[in-house]
Amino acid sequence: MITAETIKINKAPKSRIEEVDFNDLEFGKVISDHMFISDYSDGEWNNVRIEPFGQISFSPTILALHYGQMVFEGMKAFHMQDGNISIFRIEKHYERFMRSLERMCMPPMSYRLFEESITNLIKLDAAWVPKSAGSSLYIRPFVFASEERFGVKISSEYKYIIFSGPVGPYYDKPLRVKVEHQFVRAARGGTGYAKCAGNYGASFYPAHLAKMQGFDQVLWTDGSPDLNIEESGTMNVMFVIDGVLVTPPLSDSILDGVTRDSFLTLAHELGVHTQQRTVSALELEEALKNNILQEAFGTGTAALSTYIQSIDIKGKDYSVPVPGENGVMTRIKNLLMDIRTGKAPDKYNWNTLIKIGQ
Ligand SMILES: *Cc1c(COP(=O)(O)O)cnc(C)c1O
Repeated sequence: MITAETIKINKAPKSRIEEVDFNDLEFGKVISDHMFISDYSDGEWNNVRIEPFGQISFSPTILALHYGQMVFEGMKAFHMQDGNISIFRIEKHYERFMRSLERMCMPPMSYRLFEESITNLIKLDAAWVPKSAGSSLYIRPFVFASEERFGVKISSEYKYIIFSGPVGPYYDKPLRVKVEHQFVRAARGGTGYAKCAGNYGASFYPAHLAKMQGFDQVLWTDGSPDLNIEESGTMNVMFVIDGVLVTPPLSDSILDGVTRDSFLTLAHELGVHTQQRTVSALELEEALKNNILQEAFGTGTAALSTYIQSIDIKGKDYSVPVPGENGVMTRIKNLLMDIRTGKAPDKYNWNTLIKIGQ
């Protein structure tokens, strides 16, 4: 069994934190002092340890590099107003991580290992959790196939690694998106619900083409002639249609976003009706023409939520209202931020607390 005592900790001799300008954090650039590592072989996660963050070396033959067994998570820790640290919805991230691992034929781990690995790492690097409003410590757990062998097979060895890095507030400019009708991100029966690296690799080319045409992102569809909307870039997507918060229902081609789930829960709390149902591009077009599409936005851990200001449907560009502070999106976002920093009660037990100074 994994406990704080069984994690071998090799502390960095000197922190790098003095070198970091916390007022100018480029997303994904700055890494905290330590990383967690565990090796899987003979059917078990072994050798659990925390080391100074640094390079790791492996053979060019490791299976992850060739056949893509690689899944990850993305979550955040926050500085709370009482000085402690909260980590947002570890359990929900764990459940998804296990579903991703299973889909890629990779071994599960106990909740205990997942939770202890994250909390012990963040405790050690607590000084790296930024204090300014809207900032957070991004946490990246991932597992990849590390068996050294180039023949096609399911790997029998894996590495589980976690590192973290401080990220600043995300200044989100409303997005211009297009309904993608040539490419799909995920197909029925595919890997769309798994957070596997290959899904991202496959989405880059369509996203790149859309950028060249002046869009920020694509609105993915299910590839059917109805153009049923699925996600927006690497975020889940939500619409406010005639006062109701509408989002496509989960399926094997839609990623079960933790932010999506949190938004749906908080919408109820704020008295906003929600519907998880199919939304086609044609319905969006009708709603836009009738002026009942009141908001459109993406949700995800990195930005939390970002407004969509225009949607291109088959070459025709429609603008979408971007309401200010009274918008459904902004009200939910503010409540969510208050829960994470301890300004609003944590009714749903979403925060895992790390007490500082104990
Ligand atoms: C990670 C991810 C999301 C957002 O999930 P969160 O848990 O809210 O961060 C949405 N769509 C895709 C494809 C993703 O990979």
